[in-house]
Amino acid sequence: MTVPQCRSCGDPLVCTVVDLGRQPLSNAYLDPGCIADERTYPLHARFCERCFLVQVEDAVPPDDIFTDYAYFSSFSDSWVAHARQFVHAAADRFDLGPSSFVVEIASNDGYLLSHFAELGVPVLGIEPAANVAAVAIERGVPTDVRFFGSHTAAELVERGRPADLIVANNVLAHVPDLNDFVQGLSTLLEPGGTISIEVPHLLRLVRETQFDTIYHEHFSYFSLLSAGEVFERHGLRIVDVERLRTHGGSLRMFVAHAGSDRRVTPVVGEILEEERSAGLDRADGFTGFAARVEACREALVDFLVGARREGRRVVGYGAAAKGNTLLNYAHVGPDLLEYVIDRSPHKQGRLLPGSRVPVVDPARLDRDQPDDILILPWNLRDEIVDQLARVREWGGRFVVAVPSIEVIE
Ligand code: ZN
Repeated sequence: MTVPQCRSCGDPLVCTVVDLGRQPLSNAYLDPGCIADERTYPLHARFCERCFLVQVEDAVPPDDIFTDYAYFSSFSDSWVAHARQFVHAAADRFDLGPSSFVVEIASNDGYLLSHFAELGVPVLGIEPAANVAAVAIERGVPTDVRFFGSHTAAELVERGRPADLIVANNVLAHVPDLNDFVQGLSTLLEPGGTISIEVPHLLRLVRETQFDTIYHEHFSYFSLLSAGEVFERHGLRIVDVERLRTHGGSLRMFVAHAGSDRRVTPVVGEILEEERSAGLDRADGFTGFAARVEACREALVDFLVGARREGRRVVGYGAAAKGNTLLNYAHVGPDLLEYVIDRSPHKQGRLLPGSRVPVVDPARLDRDQPDDILILPWNLRDEIVDQLARVREWGGRFVVAVPSIEVIE
């Protein structure tokens, strides 16, 4: 087998972080009745010893991944609040008004840009998934249905103007051609403009064994170290960074042209130092990670088998991508987890990829009154426990499996 190459710097990738075996795409929900030809692909995370990027191979053509994307941002309450807050802070900080131009990449159903539009700021969304882009256009957010890269950026600049603010929240990790994408950001950005980029923080993934955030659609796992390397290659520089609670701990990086006069805030150096002391700049920083992942799988299976033996009924909550990595890696099927509840009508009535656990409407919960609810998107645990407070009335418990089995008191 040939050694895969780093998608950022091109070096051969010889250091394994964790090998999660072959898995189907985590967003490829199945329709009952046509589940015969489910394809699986290797899911193997590796570390680049030269530029420090953790990544999985892009074994899957991008068109397979994004064209029928079942994720609609507006279905999560905390995301909607996060977006509103972000927009008001950014409009203030970067002095954005009717003469500015904001572009969001992977704008999903337009929920974030609609807040800029309300403030009178001209906006454009770029979204490759036609079904979600249609929702954005319907709510009045101009949206181009396409992938973003250097070519798209050059065309946009030619057609209109460069952007004062480019927002790329939780998209950089999902880009197969990282260098082309970052070159596009550089091309599209006004000389004095800012790019705001959110990525889950690798430091948290490693420290908290968040292995279920590894899935095929999530190509790259960034530290500030590895992100800085790729920006620098394209004439960009990280000038500020914030720590966010989203996705189990994310970074919001503010990036500007390297030649601009923006000062770099001290927090950038602080986080780089923290990453170096955690070993994110060398292979031995990942020692023991795979063993912790294995322990997590065993604990989940023990819990589910024990529950079945005791006659406790366990169901899942939240048909999220990370749940699919967990269930498929642990080989959990409907025999151990009866069904998964999800608020999104786009997922209800379908089966989770691989595990084939059915996705059902929340109303089912009240009819069945199960004993334990396994919360799969553990990053939303507080929100979900609040939403489902009624479960406690029939003595139901909430459980999370990552980083270890925990019954939430
Ligand atoms: Zn590299």
